[in-house]
Amino acid sequence: MKQLKCFSKISKLFLIISLTITLLSGCTKSTKHEELPINITIFHVNDRHGRMSAEPYLSYKANELRSKGESVMIFDAGDALHGQIETNLTSGSSMVQLMNEVGYNGMVVGNHEFTYGVDRLLELSSMMDFPLIASNVMRSGIPVFQEYNIFYYSGIKIGVFGVVTPETSNSMDPRVIAGLDFDDPQETAIRLVTQLKEEGCDFIIALAHLGDSSVSSPENRSDALAISGVDLVIDGHSHSLLPVGRTVGNTLIVQAGEFAEHIGVVKISIYNDWIDKSANIIIVSDDLPKDTHILNKINEIKQTLEGITSQVVGYTPYLLKGERDDVRTEDTNLSNLITDSMQWYTQSDISFISGGSIRASIPAGNITYGQVLTTMPYSNLIITMEINGTTIMQALEHGVSLYPEPVGLFLQFAGLLVTFNPNAPVENRITNVVMSDGSTFDINRTYKVAMLEFLAVGGDGYTMLQTGQNIVYYGGDAEAFINYLATNPVINEEGEGRITE
Ligand SMILES: [Zn+2]
Repeated sequence: MKQLKCFSKISKLFLIISLTITLLSGCTKSTKHEELPINITIFHVNDRHGRMSAEPYLSYKANELRSKGESVMIFDAGDALHGQIETNLTSGSSMVQLMNEVGYNGMVVGNHEFTYGVDRLLELSSMMDFPLIASNVMRSGIPVFQEYNIFYYSGIKIGVFGVVTPETSNSMDPRVIAGLDFDDPQETAIRLVTQLKEEGCDFIIALAHLGDSSVSSPENRSDALAISGVDLVIDGHSHSLLPVGRTVGNTLIVQAGEFAEHIGVVKISIYNDWIDKSANIIIVSDDLPKDTHILNKINEIKQTLEGITSQVVGYTPYLLKGERDDVRTEDTNLSNLITDSMQWYTQSDISFISGGSIRASIPAGNITYGQVLTTMPYSNLIITMEINGTTIMQALEHGVSLYPEPVGLFLQFAGLLVTFNPNAPVENRITNVVMSDGSTFDINRTYKVAMLEFLAVGGDGYTMLQTGQNIVYYGGDAEAFINYLATNPVINEEGEGRITE
């Protein structure tokens, strides 16, 4: 990073006088301007998964600089529009409204942006006052989204192109990405750099949703974008916090953690043929000054949600039982319905949730959206994975390991009928397992199992589920439940007895 600091450490006056000497220390080459350096501050966020909490601070900071006449850009590196009640209830539009108010300059499509389907995503894009970009998402060879955008600051041209992880094609609900092809990130970058150079760009940014996780194959990591001509990669997807970024060749790569806990800041200065760039991170905390206009906007959004939560989404002739002591010791009509909805939504062999994910009963009568959210308040994503029968047995054993104590880890499921002996030693309590249609459960077979992301990452001690393969992301738990209720009437007054002594 040493070579990147040469402008920030010296005053402008000194810089003008001694520029030639200073620059011999070797900043990156680029453009042809004669006046003072052009300074731009870029704020960036990524992987917020529906959280709006950083926006008042981000907006305050941006406005503070704008009021001093400084140039500010704000980018989102993907996975913003889905994930919390506030976003999911409006199929993403509440987040778009907020981002419009804050004054974003661009956003790349994250893999979870596809959760609502491409048509809805294009609709959301049309509501945005800024471009939603991705240059490697194709349908029949034609880009689905705007590929890039060019911004002008005092004679400087900044080109920004978007790249989303090709791993979207095997990690998202196959229905929402049907017909889409994801081009190779590096080939895309080479194509776009050529294009943006032809258009005379002085500074090129790849707004990426690739990440740097070792789980991703190397060609799908952000390093693949560190090619000649890409000055900055603003990245997301791996939820990595890079406090000062990292430099690969002449490319600075930045990413700002996850869940609106940090705001990334990149400062760039461009003078004649020279570019200086440096990165840091703002930790979001209550002590930071907030933009009250944005705070009010968030409150307004929450109020409009009240209208949606009172909407009727289903009907039950019976009380749907979700009391703590019930769902943590036995299956109930509600735990059956929820796990059935997950199995149905993902077309899986089996589905799992822990009893602790069910937070309330639903009274007989009309069911409102709000009641569903009281029962399932965590906006958990449903995922599927492939695991073998032995791992499923380990999960079933873990689910009854503390029985009869009413604990959150008690396992609820669809697709199986299980008997157990509560007096047998822990990890040896399951006495019989068959598929719910009576067919044989085979410990050597691989099954497609749906579960909440919480379990998939080893929550409630289900670490054996971390070994799952071919993970695919679907929508939220409440969305699956509501869709299921729309076509499947409630017929059981009690639990079916899927797990018995
Ligand atoms: Zn992602």
